[in-house]
Amino acid sequence: MGNPKGFMMVPRVEAGYRPAKERIFDFGEVEQTLNEKDRKLQASRCMDCGIPFCHWGCPVNSKIPEWQDAIYRGRKDEAYYILHSTNSFPEITGRICPAPCEKSCVLAIHEESVTIRENECSVVEQAFEAGIVKANPPRTRTGKKVAVIGSGPAGLSAADLLNRAGHLVTVFEKNDAIGGLLRYGIPDFKLNKSVIDRRLELFVDEGMIFKTNVNVGKDISREELLQEFDAVLLAIGAEQPRDLPVEGRDLDGVHYAMDFLTQQNKVVSGQEIPEEERILAKDKNVIVIGGGDTGSDCVGTSIRQKAASVTQIEILPKPPEKRELNNPWPYWPNTLRTSSSHLEGCERRWSLSSKKFIGEGGKLKGVEVVQVEWSKDDSGRWVMNEVPGTTEILEVELALLSMGFTQPVHVGLLESLGLDYDQRGNVKVNDKKQTSVEKIFAAGDVEKGASLVVHAIEAGKVAAKNIDEFLR
Ligand SMILES: Cc1cc2nc3c(=O)[nH]c(=O)nc-3n(C[C@H](O)[C@H](O)[C@H](O)COP(=O)(O)OP(=O)(O)OC[C@H]3O[C@@H](n4cnc5c(N)ncnc54)[C@H](O)[C@@H]3O)c2cc1C
Ligand code: SF4
Repeated sequence: MGNPKGFMMVPRVEAGYRPAKERIFDFGEVEQTLNEKDRKLQASRCMDCGIPFCHWGCPVNSKIPEWQDAIYRGRKDEAYYILHSTNSFPEITGRICPAPCEKSCVLAIHEESVTIRENECSVVEQAFEAGIVKANPPRTRTGKKVAVIGSGPAGLSAADLLNRAGHLVTVFEKNDAIGGLLRYGIPDFKLNKSVIDRRLELFVDEGMIFKTNVNVGKDISREELLQEFDAVLLAIGAEQPRDLPVEGRDLDGVHYAMDFLTQQNKVVSGQEIPEEERILAKDKNVIVIGGGDTGSDCVGTSIRQKAASVTQIEILPKPPEKRELNNPWPYWPNTLRTSSSHLEGCERRWSLSSKKFIGEGGKLKGVEVVQVEWSKDDSGRWVMNEVPGTTEILEVELALLSMGFTQPVHVGLLESLGLDYDQRGNVKVNDKKQTSVEKIFAAGDVEKGASLVVHAIEAGKVAAKNIDEFLR
């Protein structure tokens, strides 16, 4: 423990965001960093608890008190090695993880948890700056070949560990760039793509093979795959978006959030989108349907595209500002979350159901919404009821559907592989992440359903360990 009295003497300080009036004019990362002295002070607040609940909260089992201590003592290399020992991408979780570790930190009991996520990010950035992070190719190769299909955090986390174990890993990606949702979902203002490229360069130097623009199942058949590789990892995510099949869904101006976000990420990377395909919020009144993270990313992107107004609506009631009695520490707090994008100027409304899209000449002009109430029926199930007389029409020219993802896409690769699914339509795996076909494993959103980067990284770790055992 850095300083036994740190948590009593030093208040929690966050680096905060760049001012909204400045950041909305660019797609640069919104988050700022503390100077080294303040960062050490923040690290000194960790109490090295006898029972560190932060471990319990962290899906990748990060050894948090150990690397906080190393930060405090100025041991940059040690801090980085401890951090990297349980997570291939601390530079990514350090930026975009919702940090369940902080919610379960013992100091969160009085809402002053250690600044774990920001400290994590600063450890990695300092390590890269100091030249501590270097390619470390395996000394020997096993002669076994593994195909990883899908290059999101699950696929890359597994690929890293399998490559380190000496297997020859080829990562296939159907898009034109590696990274999965890190690349073409999460906006640059949360995660600058050079952060992904920096890590990929190391992977290439370590002998990993990347093949982009390859849609496995279409460009490579099941037979070719199973013949050429000793093991296969499916990490294709859960790309089937939840639709809103109401009247007017096919109007010009109603789009899936991912189509909108992907285009913007491509534009930031220097690619051009044909004018007739471009989805732009500029000068439009935008409605974002769905109150989650994807929706919040649509809000921030619309604001940067200079929308006339942005409204985000959610069908569920507004969450409480503070934990309720049935949701105590150290559990994940089911409370209202406000992102940097929300602070940039958007109206948020809850308990609203979208009834139909209204158009004129084929173009979207409005959305009819109605207020809803939620109550439990006799069997204890939540039931939604419309509140009579509360129908209203919101005038909008762009509607972005961000109501989550239902399951992985079955058509194509999954159908050709003939794997079993679970009840929700995800690929069914056992506790080794092995599917119903012995040689094929699956990790990440494809087997868990849409989740978080940190869960995908952990799933990739579990799959890599078991693929390694399977191959040996
Ligand atoms: C807009 C948005 C914002 C998000 N923000 C956050 C956040 O801030 N923090 C957080 O923790 N989580 C966030 N998430 C969730 C997180 O991104 C996902 O949980 C995570 O990326 C899942 O990782 P994955 O590797 O399982 O799949 P993905 O990242 O979805 O990667 C799957 C990859 O497989 C490829 N693929 C699919 N089929 C094939 C095929 N047949 N052949 C070759 N390649 C194929 C896809 O093109 C894709 O690149 C966000 C999600 C979205 C949509
Ligand atoms: S729970 Fe909080 S204070 Fe305790 S060891 Fe973990 S980070 Fe440090």
